[in-house]
Amino acid sequence: MAGCIFCGIARGEVPAKVVLENDDVIAFHDLDPKAPTHVLVIPRRHIASIDEMADGDEALIGRVFAMARDVARDQGVQEGGYRLVTNIGRNAGQSVDHLHVHVLGGRRLTWPPG
Ligand code: 5GP
Ligand code: ZN
Repeated sequence: MAGCIFCGIARGEVPAKVVLENDDVIAFHDLDPKAPTHVLVIPRRHIASIDEMADGDEALIGRVFAMARDVARDQGVQEGGYRLVTNIGRNAGQSVDHLHVHVLGGRRLTWPPG
């Protein structure tokens, strides 16, 4: 999608510290990390959020979560535990309108979120 920063990262046009990638999904370090491990996992194809996913996108979203699991292993946070978050819309604080799953770990995370 024109003007989407994460589409730019998915196409390799915007630099990012890539952790893992395959044909459909790419994971990269968050520019402004909120935990010792903070990686974003996105589908390469533009979907604005889970709210915008269509019938037929289930397998792709499953691959996003499978890569989030692989990122947790790669970054060494699997044993200590980690959190997967996907913000949807303004009240949740979504600031980039390209579906992304945050992989957060490496410290104790508070619950419930603020
Ligand atoms: P949201 O607030 O939409 O759930 O999360 C967006 C995340 O994207 C934020 O944590 C923010 O730090 C990160 N972010 C925004 N722009 C960029 C960028 O250009 N590169 C990277 N690597 N992360 C970004
Ligand atoms: Zn996009």
